[in-house]
Amino acid sequence: MPSRPNWVYTCFKRLERCADTVTGAAGPFFVAIATVLFILGTLCFLDVILPTIPWPWLSVLPCFLIIINLFGHYYFACTVSPGFAGDPPQRVGRSFIWAKRRRYSISRANGVHWSSHLNITPASTTTCPKCGETKPERTHHCRVCNRCVLKYDHHCPCVGLHNERHFVMFMAYVTLATFCFVAFGWPHLFTALGLYFDDTWEHRISPILFTIIYLVCLVMCLAVGTMLAWQLWSVAVAETAVESYDHEYYRKVASSRGETFQNSYDLGSLNNLRLFFNIGKDGYPIYTLILPLRVLPYTDGRSWARRHGLERHHGVRADEELTDEEDN
Ligand SMILES: [Zn+2]
Ligand SMILES: [Zn+2]
Repeated sequence: MPSRPNWVYTCFKRLERCADTVTGAAGPFFVAIATVLFILGTLCFLDVILPTIPWPWLSVLPCFLIIINLFGHYYFACTVSPGFAGDPPQRVGRSFIWAKRRRYSISRANGVHWSSHLNITPASTTTCPKCGETKPERTHHCRVCNRCVLKYDHHCPCVGLHNERHFVMFMAYVTLATFCFVAFGWPHLFTALGLYFDDTWEHRISPILFTIIYLVCLVMCLAVGTMLAWQLWSVAVAETAVESYDHEYYRKVASSRGETFQNSYDLGSLNNLRLFFNIGKDGYPIYTLILPLRVLPYTDGRSWARRHGLERHHGVRADEELTDEEDN
């Protein structure tokens, strides 16, 4: 059992626990508020901004794609199960919401889909002391759901292996949608505020509502854009939110011995991003990035692609690895 990490880590774990309690209790409330805001934002955009966007023959289709991706990925991020350790592996569905596999892609017997050229190794397993489930590595016990989640990231709603792609795509489309709203909507904001005295407000949406939604979009664009940048950076270095704090600790442990910690899931930023979105040669077609479709992750969470030559992380011993028991 490793000694307690430093007080910053302990403080972070306490803060994380408080945040989990708040989001767990208020989660459905936040989801309802966000849904109302997205609907009001879309109505404001369609009524006020869209009719004045230049080159409508070019811009209307991208605008509608952004709107359907925003709602589609939000719906999937909230409703798709993150993937619990005790559940059977998920399979591709037959309905239209599932992206079509490439014809030549393969499915391997160990549950890992698509990949033929990666160094895939079965995950090591432990037993969760809290719920008794067998936990493949990268699985963590969610305090709010009280279950073990494959490749657990955080709970708001619960984000894990099967809905993390929808969650990141949702954040990307929120950033894009609010950016377009702010960039194309500012002349209308001036009219709504009465600053263009020769322009009259001739829309069904009231100028007060438009002003409020504009300001909400401005704040969301900055806040969600920052979160998205952090999330994409985490994907590029192949770490979940939980792992980024664990790995910080491992780096210190390794450097105290004069070694360098190496994350064995890190295949290089481009490959990490390709695997996360499951696109490219052995994955889904690239158009799955612009349509709100369901896709399976490249793995079932019981095997992981690793850097060639590594069976586990380099620089940290098995008995030094942090487990969920540390955050009691
Ligand atoms: Zn558990
Ligand atoms: Zn959860």
